[in-house]
Amino acid sequence: PIILGLESSCDETAAALVTSDRVVLAHRLAGQEAAHRPYGGVVPEIAARAHVEALIPLVEAALDDAGMTLAQVDAIAATAGPGLIGGVMVGLVTGKALAHAAGKPLIAVNHLEGHALSPRLADMTLDFPYLLLLVSGGHCQLLEVRGVGDYRRLATTIDDAAGEAFDKTAKLLGLGIPGGPKVEALAREGDPRAVPLPRPLAGTAEPHFSFAGLKSAVMRAVESGRWSHADIAASFQQAVVDCLVDRTARALDVADRPTALVVAGGVAANGAVRGALQALASAHDLPFVAPPLWLCTDNAAMIGWAGAERFAAGLIDDLAFPARPRWPLDPSAQTVRGAGV
Ligand code: ATP
Ligand code: MG
Ligand code: FE
Repeated sequence: PIILGLESSCDETAAALVTSDRVVLAHRLAGQEAAHRPYGGVVPEIAARAHVEALIPLVEAALDDAGMTLAQVDAIAATAGPGLIGGVMVGLVTGKALAHAAGKPLIAVNHLEGHALSPRLADMTLDFPYLLLLVSGGHCQLLEVRGVGDYRRLATTIDDAAGEAFDKTAKLLGLGIPGGPKVEALAREGDPRAVPLPRPLAGTAEPHFSFAGLKSAVMRAVESGRWSHADIAASFQQAVVDCLVDRTARALDVADRPTALVVAGGVAANGAVRGALQALASAHDLPFVAPPLWLCTDNAAMIGWAGAERFAAGLIDDLAFPARPRWPLDPSAQTVRGAGV
């Protein structure tokens, strides 16, 4: 089967054509950085409008790239949440309209499931269950991926996500957006041991995350004027890496026999993060799987692939499926508060 994937949950508009045997026939993406740059972050109303303008032309371009028509597609998979409600509505309504017009099934995809299954698009040997570190702009979670639609959350962040910490640090260092890649580039010129920064929650029994205190410490380091921005960037990145490794190591102790250690989401594009997790996996005699960089940050191929996995499992959705701005992958997971963790 061939699946058309649509993504519009944040500030990337994307369309892709993916086959169930892992061939990405086409993938198109339009970022919105220039539109949001004057505001220093993503403005939801601007994002929604930009998605409206970009999505259909991207679908047409993707079909063109693959030399196909909509009639040759077997199903349409659209992100239905979580994310900014305006953007999610644009992608989901577009998916519904195309599905209805072409008489194709609709698959409503959880954006986090897109990230969670993306490593299986890149690596056909990756089997369930695996331990997933999902690190993105809005999420920082450790999940047992037990099957399609079957996720158990072991841990989450009690405040900021790791990508958010990169973005806020970029702002403090005057680097602008997109923050992650800019901090990573500057960190290459600095000393990761130069600035003493905290490793929040490191060593605690439950593998939860916290990055708010780290951000405040970065702010104080910048204000003190004692260190170069490169040293601050390198030390910040090292602190994040240490936290991710410490927490993931803890999760490996409590996880139920994972077959691999897997990382996904935008922060998985970071070379230092990938290197440290690779070493952790080796130390535990586990294979390490990380998607190629383009598949880590938001894209529609991962939505098309999640659609292909759901389609194979017979999971198709009603055209009445609602947009879900909040949509946990593990509905049984409790809210975790700072106090008591
Ligand atoms: P979510 O998936 O949680 O809804 P999102 O879709 O905005 O959030 P992604 O596109 O998956 O997030 O990831 C974007 C995040 O990844 C940003 O916070 C960005 O700074 C971070 N990021 C991207 N590349 C890198 C990198 N090389 N190093 C560190 N962080 C990075
Ligand atoms: Mg983005
Ligand atoms: Fe994302």
